[in-house]
Amino acid sequence: MKPSNYECLILGTGNAVIHPERKGPGFLLNWEGRYLLFDIGYGTMSELLSHQLSYKDLDALFLSHWHIDHISDLLPTLFVANIPTFHRERPLPVFAPVGFKKVFSQLCNIFGQWINGTFRLRIIECHPDIQMQWNNIDISCYKMAHSASALGYRLQSNEKVFAYSGDTEKISLLKDLFQGVDLGIIECSFPDNMGLPGHLNVTDVIELLQDISYKKMALCHLYTPARLENIRQNFNKAGLKNIVIPTKGEIISF
Ligand SMILES: [Zn+2]
Repeated sequence: MKPSNYECLILGTGNAVIHPERKGPGFLLNWEGRYLLFDIGYGTMSELLSHQLSYKDLDALFLSHWHIDHISDLLPTLFVANIPTFHRERPLPVFAPVGFKKVFSQLCNIFGQWINGTFRLRIIECHPDIQMQWNNIDISCYKMAHSASALGYRLQSNEKVFAYSGDTEKISLLKDLFQGVDLGIIECSFPDNMGLPGHLNVTDVIELLQDISYKKMALCHLYTPARLENIRQNFNKAGLKNIVIPTKGEIISF
């Protein structure tokens, strides 16, 4: 990734089903030269290394929620930083739903200094109705319909808008989250004839995108990668353009 571009490196396209080629959810944004990571699923930190980057390069982490597949590389990352050559000096800002401070303190009760020793997480709990500013980026979060406190994030600067849904089922707030984005990353867990509460399927995503404007949308968290061609055809038939179903390691410019 080049400095100061608007790019998203796909570190993992998968979900809770462990898969060697897909990994867990993880999306690294290069936003004007800052590295912002959205979710830190299993395998995402090793994928980062294949792009000559590491957790030492991260400027902020955004957690959509704390289901295991979305946070599973966090503890190993904190643990390895205890080894002297792997130290990270600067604290890492972590934007997370309300409640994550408590979750992390419970983890610290179990693992102690092994995860809370060398570098500190600076946890910023995000309230859906309060807009934040961080390094000239406007950050809004939206309450998603998934686990109790799951959030979607929308980032905006003078030039670009980016949004990430995390996990959710269909709700009208998704229109506010994704309206006018340069790049959106949206979960699309299931094909149109399948579904589970708390997740979107192809029909849900098509109906949403037909109602908003966007420049580029990437589909993630798919449970049925074998049906990719079918899913692509559904979006084509609906007349929706600029839909990307990325593979791990892909870089999307926006
Ligand atoms: Zn989840």
